[in-house]
Amino acid sequence: MRTLIYNVKLVEKSGITDGAAVLIRDGKIEYVSRDGAMILPAVDESIDGEGTYLSAGFIDIHVHGGGGHDFMDGTEEAFRGAMASHMAHGTTSIVPTTLTAEDEELCEVFAVARRVRSSRDAENLPEILGLHLEGPYVEPSMAGAQDPKYIKVPSDLSWKGIVEAADGDLLIWTVAPELEGADEMAEALRDSGIIFSAGHSAAKYDDCVRAINAGYTMATHLYSSMSTIIRENGYRVPGVLEASLLHDEICAEVIADGLHLPPSLLKLIYKTKGGDRMVLVTDAMRGAGMPDGEYLLGSLKRGQLVSVFDGIAHMPDGISFAGSVATADRLVRVMTTMAGVPLNEVIAMITENPAREVGVADHKGKVEVGYDADLVMFDGNINVKSVWCRGKKTV
Ligand SMILES: [Zn+2]
Repeated sequence: MRTLIYNVKLVEKSGITDGAAVLIRDGKIEYVSRDGAMILPAVDESIDGEGTYLSAGFIDIHVHGGGGHDFMDGTEEAFRGAMASHMAHGTTSIVPTTLTAEDEELCEVFAVARRVRSSRDAENLPEILGLHLEGPYVEPSMAGAQDPKYIKVPSDLSWKGIVEAADGDLLIWTVAPELEGADEMAEALRDSGIIFSAGHSAAKYDDCVRAINAGYTMATHLYSSMSTIIRENGYRVPGVLEASLLHDEICAEVIADGLHLPPSLLKLIYKTKGGDRMVLVTDAMRGAGMPDGEYLLGSLKRGQLVSVFDGIAHMPDGISFAGSVATADRLVRVMTTMAGVPLNEVIAMITENPAREVGVADHKGKVEVGYDADLVMFDGNINVKSVWCRGKKTV
């Protein structure tokens, strides 16, 4: 089956090409025409893009749920529902993210992820690249929406059992690097392929430098639930925020829903980190892609009730946010309109950059010959028109 998508504005990191065309065959990109010239083989289907935008599919590496489901529900139905809901907004690869919970509950989620990944309908959904564990090794004072009941310290060595149970599916681990035993944990897992991300942390600058040396390469939702400058005997001590902004080794997750961070901070991150060292994430909970109302944050069994209104989920205390209800298209819209970043750079922040960070840059995140045909077509307001997951039109 050969499909030709023509008459599109192709959005890539290097720029936007008018009048481009992309040929898909057997789930892969077979040919890309950027200059209008193309020797056409026989195609089974041709789609006129009518001048709309086409880019690589969006890759969300920090997302808890959507469409009324949370990955912590621990059912295949929840996985499929949340993934389908984000796919409608352009997501073609996903890293389901867990909340701090008992080991047993995490293991159930691992098992469900494996079943969904290997099921026959997996081709109709975004690809699960692996799992992102947010906790349970986080600093209690920076717990945010993480349930403090299940918080642990790495020195109890319980992480060994978690890694074993995940059986290679653990892709990203958000850990507070200042905790006892955290350095040893990162060192021990250095060659495991697990990406360490500093988050829900009260670490001081020196802890962060140690963490970077131990192999941390990411910072979890920059600005949220992380330390910043404190005064000690009059001296200023920077925190995770400043270390993340300063060190190029660290790629920063940014919840660009336009509410977690005001435009001024989005601009500041872009100015300090540069477009190349940022990854846009939704950090969405089950209320994403749903109408305003009351939703459980976390699993159906143990979740806490939060309310969604004005485009964000609010904790019962009325002070803090309980995660976002963003979808990937909204992140792109916010970064272009509110932060004023060029569209091609923004698209890279949710395609090429996350693909590189999680180690799939050789077949995902770009519109290149031989790459997976993960594509999204959208208009000038970033309204998603069509989505292809590994060559199959799913939206
Ligand atoms: Zn999260």
